[in-house]
Amino acid sequence: MRITKDVHIIGDGGMGLSHALDCCVYLLNCGDQWVMIDAGGGSGGEEMLANIREDGIDPGSIKSVIVTHAHADHACGAKFFRERLGIQTIASEIDAPLVEDGSDEELGLNIARGPIYPSDYKYIHTKVDRRVADGEELRMGNKVLRFILVPGHTPGAMCVLSKNEGIIFTGDVVFCNGTIGLGNWPGSELAPYRANIGKLSGLGVKQLFPGHFGFTLKDGQAHLDKAVANLRLPFVPPVWGHNHPAR
Ligand SMILES: [Zn+2]
Repeated sequence: MRITKDVHIIGDGGMGLSHALDCCVYLLNCGDQWVMIDAGGGSGGEEMLANIREDGIDPGSIKSVIVTHAHADHACGAKFFRERLGIQTIASEIDAPLVEDGSDEELGLNIARGPIYPSDYKYIHTKVDRRVADGEELRMGNKVLRFILVPGHTPGAMCVLSKNEGIIFTGDVVFCNGTIGLGNWPGSELAPYRANIGKLSGLGVKQLFPGHFGFTLKDGQAHLDKAVANLRLPFVPPVWGHNHPAR
């Protein structure tokens, strides 16, 4: 589904766009190529391919899939797209080992299986072709992407900023209205959130595309600033979306 000239959403279980376990999966228009942001939970690949074609996009023009963090609903679809489309996978240098070979405990699946994932759900590991560090920038077609690591949801969770356009993909780091993805599973901690959330200040973000619960096309920076402000208060900040289960 086309959101803007630059961004399409091709998967999301919450909106019924694809399999129930898929996070929001976006395509970023980089001129001569498309970049996929996150890959869903591994069962929605064919549905998403159909959505891509319905949007008039040639799946062969997708060159990369960026995995914002190692959780199953974002990373487990990467193997399907890597193999089917022959594209490179990109992940943070901290979460990449989890994507490739993390244990259920390291991935939080030991606690998420049952309440979130089916009891027989199995993580699908994928080779990561390119590991990126905090602050690293990559040129993709006509876009310059900066990777901003904000550990706290997972040890190496990251946001992806399309610098010149003021477009940010936040995965499960921050959602609309500045709620954060703090959870009660291994790898999720408040202290690294508190230490790193300031990296999202002053980015001049216009459009904010989180991994769940919708997006905003105006004044995305205000939503990020709210998260930064909440994490300066001496209270546990608001988390997740209202009336939505945690992912
Ligand atoms: Zn997550």
